[in-house]
Parts: sequence; C-alpha cells; structure tokens
Amino acid sequence: MGALLEDLASNPHLAPTYAAVNALCTIGTEEAYDVINREKLLGFLWSLKQPDGSFNMHVGGEVDVRSAYCAASVASLTNIMTPKLFDGTAEWIARCQFWEGGIGGVPGMEAHGGYTFCGLAALVIMKRVHLLDLKSLLRWVVFRQMRFEGGFQGRCNKLVDGCYSFWQAGLLPLLHRTLHAEGDSALSYTNWMFDQKALQEYILMCCQCPSGGLLDKPGKSRDFYHTCYCLSGLSVAQHFGSGEMLRETVVGSPENILKPTHPVYNIGPDKVASAIMHFMQKEIPDLNSKNNEM
Ligand SMILES: [Zn+2]
Repeated sequence: MGALLEDLASNPHLAPTYAAVNALCTIGTEEAYDVINREKLLGFLWSLKQPDGSFNMHVGGEVDVRSAYCAASVASLTNIMTPKLFDGTAEWIARCQFWEGGIGGVPGMEAHGGYTFCGLAALVIMKRVHLLDLKSLLRWVVFRQMRFEGGFQGRCNKLVDGCYSFWQAGLLPLLHRTLHAEGDSALSYTNWMFDQKALQEYILMCCQCPSGGLLDKPGKSRDFYHTCYCLSGLSVAQHFGSGEMLRETVVGSPENILKPTHPVYNIGPDKVASAIMHFMQKEIPDLNSKNNEM
C-alpha cells in the first residue's frame, strides 16, 4: 500500500491538473498564479501527446477526449498553448463524434455527455468547432433532457443523473454561441434550447441532500463531484446569454440564484478573464529549455 501511494504521488495526471489550475485561477491572486510552473506544465503536456493528436491522461495511461479538454483548458488559461502542441488534436476529437451526434470517449465509441462536453469545449478553445456536425450534436443533446424527471441522461436509454445537468445542459451555451455567430436564427435569442425550469426543478427538488451537498438522483449519496456539477448545471439553467444580453430564470426563491459560470472552463467568467490577462503578460515557455528535455 505504501509503495502504491508513493507511486500515485509521483505520477501527475491530467484530471487533477485541470482541477488544480481551475482552483488556482478561482483563487486568482498573484500567489496562486505563481504556484503554477508553466515550463513544467508544458513539458508534462508534451509527455502525454500521442502521434495521432490525442493525449494520455497520465504517462502510460488511457487516452480519451477528457485528456484533450484538460490539456487545452490548462494550456489556454496559462498561455502555454502552441499550435504544435495541439497538432492533430482537433481532427482526432472530430473522429470521436459518433453517428448519434454526440461525442464518444475515443473514435467509434457511443456518444456520452461528459465526453461530448469535453470534445466541444476543447474545439471551442482551439477555434475548430466546425470540424463537427453541430446540428447533429444539437439534436442529440436536446433529446437527452428527460420528459418526466426534467434532468438529463448521459447517454441514450440511461437514467437521469444530476451531473449531466452540466455536461449536457452546458453544451447549449457553446452551441448557441457558435450557431448564432454563424447567423443561424433557428436557435432562440432568449433561452437555451432545453427546458431551463424543469432542469432547475430536478436539481433543487431531487438532487439536494437534506443535510447539505448534492447528488446523482434520490437514493444515491452526496459527493463533491455531483455537488459541483449539479450547481454548475443549475447556474447554466438560470443564466441565458451574457453581458447586456443576460436573462435570468430562477425557479423558487430569488435567493436560489447562483453566479454565472464560464461555458468553457466552468469557473467564474471574471476569474477566466483575470487569469488570461495575467498569463498573457508572460512569454510562452521555450520547449527546448532545460526543464523540458525529454
Ligand atoms: Zn453522475
């Protein structure tokens, strides 16, 4: 057990890297930003890059769309993103779009809410969303909101789950923004293309644990993961648009309103702006520097 823990402690992994960078950007002080060693971070991302454009989750670990999103998220926030680092990544993600319209973990895998968010958000960061069939993706996601429960399922024919309140509903802000930018008037300019009130009802009435925290569905136990993603989904369901176009829809007491969340990074939009401004002033590290000898 001791050896296993030592092994785990010595192996960095993209998921906690993503979470840690987001947490540090949420703190948003100089001290917090300075915790991130950008040269080492870039070297780590390079150590995971595969010849086909995908990334491993950790050295020798699995490959799936999560890793491309985690890598693109931390690289874009901390200004270490280079075209070479993501060479082939957008094309690889596009190959993961399944015939259903959503994105699977790897090419040929069933469409899934979590992977679809990761794939679309990564392509938004890379400005390559048009590699996807966006109408087919839109059709797939709007049919994942469940008629009776009001929450979302992660895949076709699966049960409702609170965490997909973000992974699925969070796709709509990305899709609306992209399709509106193209001048597509099929999508509303006043609300997301899902039932925002029904989703709020599911989260508020079925996913709250009476003693605090949120969960997948009644009968399941609360955890940090579902607490984060139920709240993130609740925020998406409450806020349409941004800036002057912002429209709020709040089910229940006005006190239920949460702060808006950034559609790509899922932290405060102000925190994203501050982090990008901060790291923009720093040069992109040189891949051939001593820290990155590989
Ligand atoms: Zn879940």
